[in-house]
Amino acid sequence: MDCTNARILCSAALDGEADTRELARLDDHVAGCAACRAYRTDLESLHRVVRIAPAPPVPDLTAAILAATGTAPDRRRGGLGALRLGLVGVAVVLFLLSLPSLFSGSEHTQHLASFDLALAAGFVWVAARPARALSGFLPIGTVLVLLCAGLALADALRGYGEPLRAVTHSIAVLGMIAAWLLEARAHRAPTTTVIAA
Ligand SMILES: [Zn+2]
Repeated sequence: MDCTNARILCSAALDGEADTRELARLDDHVAGCAACRAYRTDLESLHRVVRIAPAPPVPDLTAAILAATGTAPDRRRGGLGALRLGLVGVAVVLFLLSLPSLFSGSEHTQHLASFDLALAAGFVWVAARPARALSGFLPIGTVLVLLCAGLALADALRGYGEPLRAVTHSIAVLGMIAAWLLEARAHRAPTTTVIAA
């Protein structure tokens, strides 16, 4: 084995690519060649330094990249899940309270129950697809809830308010507050940057 082949084998040995026969021949050569012995020692220490050297610090570009691609995390999105969950909760309670009234004898009560059931459906739809549903739901839902709550309050002040209506309307008001909070936050899908080819 000549020195050139011996040095190639030194590298291969460090990379774990030399077999035992080659390693034995390398050892034979190095034992009788001071230059290759020094070369192998240098190579081994270099290899060790490179292997244990800490990785160079890489700047964290996450925020910059997300901002550039239009998918920056928005602080205002925080709590969005809780609001949507709250809306579902409101819808379920409203549904359960209003359903029996739908089968009551009174036409007036049945109509009120229909409004409340429609509201419950609206709340669920808003919770499921806020980006799609909110803009259409808010005007209808807000006027309906404000009028119903106002009429119930007027009735209560005149002394013939119904406890069930007070409860369902209060819940509906809570739902509308949640819907408006959802509207105030960034509920819309992140804008996608289209790059023309
Ligand atoms: Zn040599």
